[in-house]
Amino acid sequence: MKYDVVILGSGLGGLECAFILAKCGMNVCVLEKNAALGGCLQTFRRGKDEFDTGFHYVGALGKGQILERIFRHLGLMELPWHQLDTECFDQILLKGRTYPLANGYKQFAQSLSAIFPENRMELENYSSFLENVGKGIADPIYKESGGYDSINSLFEKSAYGYLCRSISDPLLRDILSGASLKLELRKDTLPLYTFAQINSSFIQSAWKLKGRGSLIADTLADGIRKMGGTVLANAQVISLKEKDGLVFGAEILHKGCRESLSADLFVSDLSPQLTLELLKDSPNIRPVFRRRINRLEQTCGFFTVNIKLKEGRIPYLNRNSYCYSPDLESVWNIAENQSGGKVKGALISQQVPESGDYATLMDILTPMNYSEVEKWTGTLPNRRGEEYLAFKARKAEECISMAQNFFPDLKESIETFYTSTPLTYLNYTGAVRGTAYGIRKDCNNLTQTLLTPKTPFGNLYFTGQNLNLHGILGVTLTSLLTCLEILGKEQVVSFLE
Ligand SMILES: Cc1cc2nc3c(=O)[nH]c(=O)nc-3n(C[C@H](O)[C@H](O)[C@H](O)COP(=O)(O)OP(=O)(O)OC[C@H]3O[C@@H](n4cnc5c(N)ncnc54)[C@H](O)[C@@H]3O)c2cc1C
Repeated sequence: MKYDVVILGSGLGGLECAFILAKCGMNVCVLEKNAALGGCLQTFRRGKDEFDTGFHYVGALGKGQILERIFRHLGLMELPWHQLDTECFDQILLKGRTYPLANGYKQFAQSLSAIFPENRMELENYSSFLENVGKGIADPIYKESGGYDSINSLFEKSAYGYLCRSISDPLLRDILSGASLKLELRKDTLPLYTFAQINSSFIQSAWKLKGRGSLIADTLADGIRKMGGTVLANAQVISLKEKDGLVFGAEILHKGCRESLSADLFVSDLSPQLTLELLKDSPNIRPVFRRRINRLEQTCGFFTVNIKLKEGRIPYLNRNSYCYSPDLESVWNIAENQSGGKVKGALISQQVPESGDYATLMDILTPMNYSEVEKWTGTLPNRRGEEYLAFKARKAEECISMAQNFFPDLKESIETFYTSTPLTYLNYTGAVRGTAYGIRKDCNNLTQTLLTPKTPFGNLYFTGQNLNLHGILGVTLTSLLTCLEILGKEQVVSFLE
């Protein structure tokens, strides 16, 4: 079968690229190795309940805000979006006290200034810095030239360094960073742009889906099929065929049978490491490029406890809660403290209930380095052995104790729970070392760690969270950049009109 474009992987990045390219008249085919579409967006069902995995909330979805402006054209604004409390969309528990984060740049600064009056000016400056970052977010798509200039200069700066220079109170710095488990808080590497772009989008507005996160993937796939495109589940790409610097075909295992597909263009939503493995002996990939890609470090993974609650026990809170252990010196130490030790911080997120005031599903997430589960590499889900089960039970217990800070009756209110580790992600999405946010971008080494959609092949492009930005907004912006390489600015801009 011959297509205009074959897309490897049905994560958000793969599906969005397929949708845009199909809308621009191309005959697309998306190949997904799993039975479920969506990669990190997939959900899992236990009885009547559907639990989220890699999606809990998004920012900038209010009318006219950047994600809304893009999602509108992807058919995603029809979904049942549910806005979190504007006065407190996230609450942060630090050193025994809870702090609210409010929507709106002014309100954000004001509500924290009420607690830290001496830092009012610093908070106003911080807030207007984030506002400016938010305003420039789509520059690479819309601006004729120089769209990357200010973004790149912020990628080269350290997020931690910026906070230390601009916020004098270490506790306030931690509060401003406290909702940042949705990125990897690392003092030595985290680029200021990653930190500012994500936090800025949530300050604009914060949203959950009233329903399962996989609705996003299913809606995109339906849209692609309606435009004549093909979306194949259970279709694992096992190799790519190339000649004279161009990829011309994909070998796949589709429902267990070997098949070949050909196309003029290929887009890979897989990690660059996995993509290069599909081109094992290619003379077109210089060893130095292969080495560079294979040496790139990965951001941490997550340990998740998905809880089914007894009915009518835990009130639904229309916000997310972040909780840190009082003995954690700074939230910026969480990654190193987590390794092999106790759970020191967690995000607690409830699914919006279908009706009523009580939550029925709750997730607790804590960062987990792959080294914690490395010894079970190669074992299969549900067959990893007693020691692994005991390890997960201990971690789950610690997570639940941490969440009790916000929900004191939690333990008695749990009907049942399920857990996952970075190994789960390695198994299901192929995420290298179970990474949650893809390749670690390093503000001190951008040329090596920030990738563009271009590859050594003229007709193969990368997309997805491994390139420059992760998260729903980051991946969506990256999808536009990949399509921009393929279609040119004019077509992408007109797609957005
Ligand atoms: C625990 C967790 C919580 C998160 N929470 C949030 C959140 O609340 N908000 C937010 O904005 N972001 C969140 N994120 C981040 C967000 O989910 C990701 O950045 C985004 O979904 C990544 O999309 P992607 O397209 O880059 O890749 P992926 O979702 O990883 O998709 C890659 C796809 O490729 C498929 N694949 C792999 N190998 C092959 C092959 N050989 N052949 C065919 N298919 C293949 C995989 O199965 C997968 O479907 C979270 C992530 C995690 C892990």
